[in-house]
Amino acid sequence: MIIILKPKATEQDLGRVVGRVEEAGLKVHLSKGTERTIIGVVGDERKMDIQSLEVLPGVERVMRVLRPFKLASREFKPDNTVVRVSDGVEVGGNQIVVMAGPCAVENEKDLMETALAVKASGAQVLRGGAFKPRTSPYSFQGLGKDGLRLLAKARDLSGLSIVTEVLSPGDIDLVSGFSDILQVGARNMQNFSLLQAIGGARKPVLLKRGMSATVEEWLMAAEYVLAGGNTQVILCERGIRTFETYTRNTMDISSIPLVKQLSHLPVIADPSHSTGVRSLVSALSRAAVAAGSDGLLVEVHPNPEEALSDGAQSLSLDEFSALMRDLGHIARSVGRTTQPSLEKAMRGGDAG
Ligand code: PEP
Ligand code: MN
Repeated sequence: MIIILKPKATEQDLGRVVGRVEEAGLKVHLSKGTERTIIGVVGDERKMDIQSLEVLPGVERVMRVLRPFKLASREFKPDNTVVRVSDGVEVGGNQIVVMAGPCAVENEKDLMETALAVKASGAQVLRGGAFKPRTSPYSFQGLGKDGLRLLAKARDLSGLSIVTEVLSPGDIDLVSGFSDILQVGARNMQNFSLLQAIGGARKPVLLKRGMSATVEEWLMAAEYVLAGGNTQVILCERGIRTFETYTRNTMDISSIPLVKQLSHLPVIADPSHSTGVRSLVSALSRAAVAAGSDGLLVEVHPNPEEALSDGAQSLSLDEFSALMRDLGHIARSVGRTTQPSLEKAMRGGDAG
């Protein structure tokens, strides 16, 4: 249920409405905009009578929410959520934010080289898995804590922010100590105890779409994190499983504008896992930005043929640099910007 207050509603009006909702054993989440306050009611709304709320002073409208997600919905929060990752890095604003790096952190030399190269090409966040969710228990599982330490070192060296996956609730504190964004992988999108625990964390979350999840299931997963009190959720379309076999997954481009309509949360695209094919990554990246994506998550490796995971979909450092140049043009054509140094280079300034 969503309760919209009148622009002139007072704090006393607000308090009375909140009191009424809480008396019924339901919880409230407030969204205070510049014009008006919107109250999201969480819990079994059948316990509340619409008319008894509508007559309260300061109340303009009360709506039952037909969609099962509330806090993630545009109705609850009409303005876009901008997730602040670190100084100067915000996802969901006008600037397209690119996160790039290896599938897995493998060794210090490769990670430092990759960090410096993707930074020079215009990425703002370094990705790299330390805890890897592998389909086979015999595949490389990641370096664990040593991988996290290397990511922190790469952050110090390059100034990039860090995104890395957290696999289990017990690792949230550990990973939060090293990472600026907590990634929830496709395989864990409906790991509800992980989502609940992340709801209590005070770190931005990158929530990947499950490989067979509908858009509604994906937004319900976001709802878990929001209901736990963590409002800093970035959605990530990473392709869904279809009957097609030439690609690893099928990127659901339509989900990008759809999620933007349904939700206030920012959405980025992962063209690497979406296709599984290096030669398709650039085209899908451009398509995603043209469709309204707020950013990209791209796998990049200094020597893709030697990568311990996902080499077939990883771009070389040079291929990534070419992608970033192309992206600037697409971003501009849809009224978006890219990293400031790239913008300068595009305007004919010193490309560095
Ligand atoms: C990854 O980002 O390396 C990854 C494992 O992605 P996904 O969860 O989308 O498969
Ligand atoms: Mn990967």
